[in-house]
Parts: sequence; C-alpha cells; structure tokens
Amino acid sequence: MDKKYYPTIGLEIHAELKTSTKMFCSCENDPDEEKPNINICPICMAHPGALPVINKKAVENVIKVGLALGGKIADFTEFDRKNYFYPDIPKGFQISQYKYPIVSGGHLADFDITRVHLEEDTANNKHDRGDFSLVDFNRSGLPLMELVTEPRTFENSEEASKGASSFAKELQLILWYLGVSEANMEKGEMRVEANISVSPDKSKFGTKVEVKNLNSFKSVEKAIKFELDRMAKLLEEEKGGEIVQETRGWDEAKQKTFSQRKKESSHDYRYFPEPDLPKMYLHEAFDLEKIKKEMPELPQEKRERYKKDFGIKDEDIESYINDPELGKYFENVSSILSSEKDKIVLASNFITNDLIGLGKAVNEFLREELLAETVGMVFNGELSSRAAKDIILVADGFEKGKKIREYALEHNMLQKNDEGEIKKIAEKIISENPEAVASYKGGKENALMSLVGKVIKESKGSANPQVVIKILKEELK
Ligand code: ADP
Ligand code: ZN
Ligand code: MG
Repeated sequence: MDKKYYPTIGLEIHAELKTSTKMFCSCENDPDEEKPNINICPICMAHPGALPVINKKAVENVIKVGLALGGKIADFTEFDRKNYFYPDIPKGFQISQYKYPIVSGGHLADFDITRVHLEEDTANNKHDRGDFSLVDFNRSGLPLMELVTEPRTFENSEEASKGASSFAKELQLILWYLGVSEANMEKGEMRVEANISVSPDKSKFGTKVEVKNLNSFKSVEKAIKFELDRMAKLLEEEKGGEIVQETRGWDEAKQKTFSQRKKESSHDYRYFPEPDLPKMYLHEAFDLEKIKKEMPELPQEKRERYKKDFGIKDEDIESYINDPELGKYFENVSSILSSEKDKIVLASNFITNDLIGLGKAVNEFLREELLAETVGMVFNGELSSRAAKDIILVADGFEKGKKIREYALEHNMLQKNDEGEIKKIAEKIISENPEAVASYKGGKENALMSLVGKVIKESKGSANPQVVIKILKEELK
C-alpha cells in the first residue's frame, strides 16, 4: 500500500438483558428454552389489539449501564416505533427508542459513547429446515439494550481491530459485574456490529460500511482487519475503485465479509412515538442516587484497587478481573496474609501459575488458610518452593483441620534449616571436591553454586539453599 489510511470505527452493540419476564409482556425471559414457541402470548406474538406494558427492571438495567459508563440518564425518555417488514417482527414495527434514549454520552476504553437505549428483540427465523422457514417467538420481545459509540479514528488497522475487541470485552465484563446480562457472544446474547471506514485524511471520515454477524471477539478483530484491507485496496485501484455504503456480513468459514444490502437510512423507518406506551420521567420513576450507591465495584475500579493494595502483576490482575470468583479467593488469601505484599505476590503466583492450571473450579481449590499457611512456610524457610508446589496440588483433598505443616512432616518434605546438620554435609562435600573448592577460592563464584547443588543433593533436596550458601561461605572463608 503506497498511501497511509486512517481507520475509523464506530460500534453498535446489542445485549439481551437478564430479567425474569420479557420487555412488554409477562412471558418468561428464558434464553435457554430449546422448545420453540413456549414463552409466547398475544403481546409478543403481535396479535392485533394486544397492549404492551413496560418492564421496569429492564429500564433499571439500562440505567445501571449508563451510570457505569458515566453517561447522562435522561429525565424524559420514550419508546418509538421503528417500522419495517420482516417475518420475525409481525407487528410491522419494532418498539425501540429514537430521539430520547435512556442514556446519552459516556466513555469506555478507546470510545466515547453516543447513547444506550432499550428495544425489544425480534423472533428467531430458522432457515435450516429445507426449502421453507420457521419462526420461533421465544426470543420475540426480550429486552434488548443497544449501545452506540461515536466514531473513533485509529492510527492503523492493528490498533483499530484491537481497540474494538477490547471495548466489546470490557463492556461484557461490565454487564457481568452489574448482573444485567449474560452477554454470551456465542449464544447471541451479545452481538457486535462494526461500522468501518478509511480515509487518507485524519480529519475527514470516509464512506462507512457496517459489518454484522460478529459472534466472537476474534471475529470482531478479523472482520475489521479484513474490511480495512479491502477498503484500502479499493482506493488504490488504478481506475479509482469506490467504497459503497452498505451492510456486509462476516463469513466465518471463508474469513471474508460479503455484501448483504445497500444501507437504508433512518427516514426509511418512519420512526414515531409509540402511542400505546406511557412516556417515562426517569428522575421521578427511579431513585437514581440509591441505584448509584448500590452499584457493585466495577472492573476498572477493581483493577486499580488490586494494583494499589497488592502490587501484583497486571496479568494476575486480569485473571482475577475476568474470573471474579478467583479474585475473591485471592482476596481471601491476601487478607489471611494481612497486608504483607511479598507474601501476597507469592500467593498470587501459586494461584495463577499452579492452581489455575489444574482445570478445577475455584471452590475445589485447597482452602484459603492452607494456601496462606504454605506461603508463610516458604517465607520462613520451612518449605522449598518446589515442595510448596507439590503440597498445594494435593492439599485440596485434606480433611478439615489438617495443616500443611502436619502433612509436610509426615511426608518428610520440610526443609532442613538445622545449621549443625547442614554443616556436617557441607564438610563432607568440601573434602570430596578439592577442585571446586580450589577454583572458588581462586575467585570463581560459579564453583560455589556447584557445591551448593551437591550439598542439597546429599540432603535429598531437603536442605534450605539459603542456609547452605551461608554455611559454605563461612567454611570456605
Ligand atoms: P446511520 O444513520 O447510518 O445508522 P449513525 O450516524 O447512526 O449512522 O452511526 C452509526 C454508527 O456508525 C455509529 O457507531 C457511528 O459511530 C458509526 N459511524 C458513523 N460514521 C462513521 C464512519 N465514517 N466510519 C466509521 N464509523 C462511523
Ligand atoms: Zn409474551
Ligand atoms: Mg444507526
């Protein structure tokens, strides 16, 4: 590519909200129902004359998201009809929000947020049964949150694709922490659409293309890279290729985007306020201060607290952020270790290097006090870190009340710190290895380590290396 193009990305993300009932009727909200057309009623089946009722919990969930993102919660908000024809929306319109979304503004990761609004999900068309299609209405009318970001210009396609997928990941975490959505992308509970354009001029946007069907963070990245590449190639064509504004799909099998339809614009939808629903005055209908006060700790706050309080590695912190149960386990161990940072760092190493690798659920790990005891014993020299690793892998099977020290004694795993005993071994090794002794005395530091190794070997691995070094140095002075 001769020229440099600046990629611009804007994201539209839908998430199904976790409520007990649907958005406008009392049907169960059960995304796992496998039998088709079980959770349905005249309202979500679009029978004429059926009247919708707003699910207050769904509105509250969007408010929580808005507060978490630092957005402004609207005072006045309303629902609108978005008119279009498709078999998955037999009313002929989707109830959505247009001019007055619940949330405006906010910020997350690399993106400014335009709005977050609430709408109803559509039914599910099944096209995989032969030369006819079926419609399953279980999903019809589920509460669906839509978040729209402002366009963000990046320096290159690497940053653009990473920036977009990191945003989606961070949003998913926030939805989990708030408990408002399962947001599982593979299950379609969270769906990402990426608007993509390129421009040689950083201060001007190019024509955008919208890519749909992104079912994983990986496909978000790959589709954006593919599309940016396709666009740059078009612009480089001799005859002057042209980027058309359109909606494209991502073909996971072929790892390519493909044209779906030329983009409609908002006036095609003939939006107008939904006459069957009341307007909402959120500052009256909700105690926003109370909601704010009761918000859980968010991923970013937790990251900062972990960094400040524990001084552990960023990778360890991410493991705890992504798995809050593991984070809780780590915090419990830390509190037993009081605030001794060195010990906490070692405990964190054992958790992320050794315990995670076992593939066990956190509640099957050794009890927190046993891990804390192990760490304490490594620090006072009673256990080598090798022995500590061996013990924590078996200690999840300990009956209640059994201590690490007891087990280490029974299995002869305690490290020997007894200077008299180590001295005896050291003297034996020194007399057997005159060459190594001579070369250490002649100034070769390395020779000491070979003697240390021999002493530890002679002790069958039980001598504390720190003590061995100290004694050898004294003996060889
Ligand atoms: P439309 O009316 O076509 O839906 P919007 O202005 O509502 O367009 O924007 C939809 C999404 O597209 C937003 O996320 C926005 O940030 C993004 N977007 C707008 N213009 C561009 C552009 N030139 N390049 C990339 N994304 C864009
Ligand atoms: Zn219903
Ligand atoms: Mg739009």
